[in-house]
Amino acid sequence: MVKFILTKELGKLARWLRILGFDTYYYTSDNMGTLIIYALRENRVIVTRRKRVDDMKVVVVETNDVRSQIKELVEKLKLKINENLMFSRCVICNELLEKVKKEEIKGKVPEYVYTTQQEFYRCPSCQRLYWQGSHWGNVREILKKVLGGDVCS
Ligand SMILES: [Zn+2]
Repeated sequence: MVKFILTKELGKLARWLRILGFDTYYYTSDNMGTLIIYALRENRVIVTRRKRVDDMKVVVVETNDVRSQIKELVEKLKLKINENLMFSRCVICNELLEKVKKEEIKGKVPEYVYTTQQEFYRCPSCQRLYWQGSHWGNVREILKKVLGGDVCS
């Protein structure tokens, strides 16, 4: 599965790629030399809005808004979005989420969430909790609008 490294002007797109399950390194430094080293070492595709990153497998994103950027990237790389991988990563850290027992998070999420949701996931790095109803809410709807009918394989 393709892995990405995104330059700092693409923070929103980085979160989206993580939501979709792609291993996405969000690179916030201006040091392009180190960026290239990371990309080579971990075999990541560089995604950037900058025009000049030499001799690398680079995708230059032409559009401004994140929805257009998703569409653009999916089209340019002919990405397959696998529904089973969606919501498997922390949008902040890129870590794979771990399922947690419901009892473990009692008191750590709002009461109504605890009573209405059955499945909870935790980021092993930042400990942020995820559940279907919250952050994931209308992602599928947005994707449908952005990419058209059959986005998921
Ligand atoms: Zn995290």
